Amino acid sequence: MATPTENTKYIFVTGGVTSSLGKGIISASLAKLLQSRGYSVTIQKLDPYINIDPGTLNPYEHGECYVTEDGAETDLDLGHYERFLNVPTSQANNVTTGRIYLSVIEKERRGDYLGETVQVIPHITDEIKHSIQLLGENNQYDFVITEIGGTVGDIESLPYIEAIRQLKWEMGPRCLVIHLTLVPYLAAAKELKTKPTQHSVKTMLEYGVQPDVLVCRTERPLNQSIRNKIALFCNVDATSVIESIDTDSIYKVPILMKDEKLDLVVLRKMKMSANCKPDLDKWEGFLDRLLNPRKSVTIGLVGKYVELVDAYKSIIESLIHAGATNHCKVNVQLIHSEQVNTQNLNKLLKNLSGILVAPGFGDRGIKGKILAIQYARINNIPFFGICLGMQCAMVEFARNVLHLKNAHSTEMEPDTPDPVIDIMEQQKQIYTKGGTMRLGAYPCKIEKTSKLYQIYNQEYISERHRHRYEFNNKYLKDFEQHGMVFSGINPDLGLVEVVELSGHPWYVGVQYHPEYHSTVANPHPLFVDFIKAAIDHDTLTSENPQSAISRAVSSAH
Ligand code: GLN
Repeated sequence: MATPTENTKYIFVTGGVTSSLGKGIISASLAKLLQSRGYSVTIQKLDPYINIDPGTLNPYEHGECYVTEDGAETDLDLGHYERFLNVPTSQANNVTTGRIYLSVIEKERRGDYLGETVQVIPHITDEIKHSIQLLGENNQYDFVITEIGGTVGDIESLPYIEAIRQLKWEMGPRCLVIHLTLVPYLAAAKELKTKPTQHSVKTMLEYGVQPDVLVCRTERPLNQSIRNKIALFCNVDATSVIESIDTDSIYKVPILMKDEKLDLVVLRKMKMSANCKPDLDKWEGFLDRLLNPRKSVTIGLVGKYVELVDAYKSIIESLIHAGATNHCKVNVQLIHSEQVNTQNLNKLLKNLSGILVAPGFGDRGIKGKILAIQYARINNIPFFGICLGMQCAMVEFARNVLHLKNAHSTEMEPDTPDPVIDIMEQQKQIYTKGGTMRLGAYPCKIEKTSKLYQIYNQEYISERHRHRYEFNNKYLKDFEQHGMVFSGINPDLGLVEVVELSGHPWYVGVQYHPEYHSTVANPHPLFVDFIKAAIDHDTLTSENPQSAISRAVSSAH
């Protein structure tokens, strides 16, 4: 049913007390509950930093960079939004302070402001409001949920809170503010403490914004008297004090929020019908398979950012989705590629059910990645290479099978005599960094006789990209003659998208990023099949323990 634009409701999610309270997951969970009642919802993240987008940020700074269909490099929370809602996002769903200022400054240079003094209020706040309301245009959504990054009280968050204040004033009940705070448990006092929440709401009030709903992150349940106390001090009714208890899986949060009636409180306050019962059957089915696995596998994730799981967020979540589909718990063992060497290779990798070599940039840890791939290839361990992982697989194969001893990617070794991975033609003249890679969705044609075709069961697919280098087709014939199968090719440009190795139980390298497409409703077929292969591998090894011994031997050669 088409809804007039004026009917779009705007929900803002702010955070207080500390960062990392899980605003992204709460936003995605509320969106899921509204979606399950038949409403159309999108979620947007506003990030108060000056970078134009997180594409240029080191993963240590900000975790993974998530790529959307339209090629935007965005905050990793957009990954949660897509995984929960199964609806694609776009550049409009992630805006930073840098992008807001860039747009205002470009307008100023064009003369759009007709001689006015350009100021934070109203020009920056107008631009923020425009970015929020853009998603409400064209009757697309019943609800736009906007998550404000950072914590209330931060200097850099101020223009965003001011924009919310103005929108609330202008649109009244079409806007609602959910404030997420922390209710800490003090072990010495044996008590949950409400003061940080009170202070955080006071800070909001100083800026002229009264939160409508408080979501309280806590490690212990909130009893009625705590809820009443928070309600009394923060000018909300007690039913609008929602407990968000620590949990071991983010996928439980929508159910916890449903039990807390977060969606009902929001619908009531926004005068929207709550008649339609939420349909969460598929979600609950997924959760049931996730929480009651029948077996387990251990996947080695070889990468250079292993100190920080957020750096590989989408890959880890895709493995969880694929595990649930296979009724299997996936233990992810993070292996630091810089620490893999010929001495410890066997010890580190011999008990793994599968090896996934991660995407990345630059030379650090490349040697370890190549060794891990060689080990997986020789020992018939399921191997999945993603982007740089696939490129390293091609370097390994060139060196050890085609005997091109100094083969490399020109990203790491510009003067290599055998550039099996080389910079793309279109990339050669590009010198600026942000947003200039081959980004977003591109088509891929699948060879019908391949394993890949069996996995996707489709001849044409589309997957998202984020890279500058590609397989060098000059070497294609030589690779093919030695058993490499080029099973996925970009039909327009002839670029290699997927490789697989004949005779190996499961060896797939992809130039694209399948992890950006895996959702709870649609776990990605490549990850699902990889986990299936890992299960088969473990079954085979347990039936034939001798194979583990022969593995140790073959790795010595
Ligand atoms: N560094 C490689 C390239 O730019 C791979 C990038 C990636 O893994 N996302 O092509």
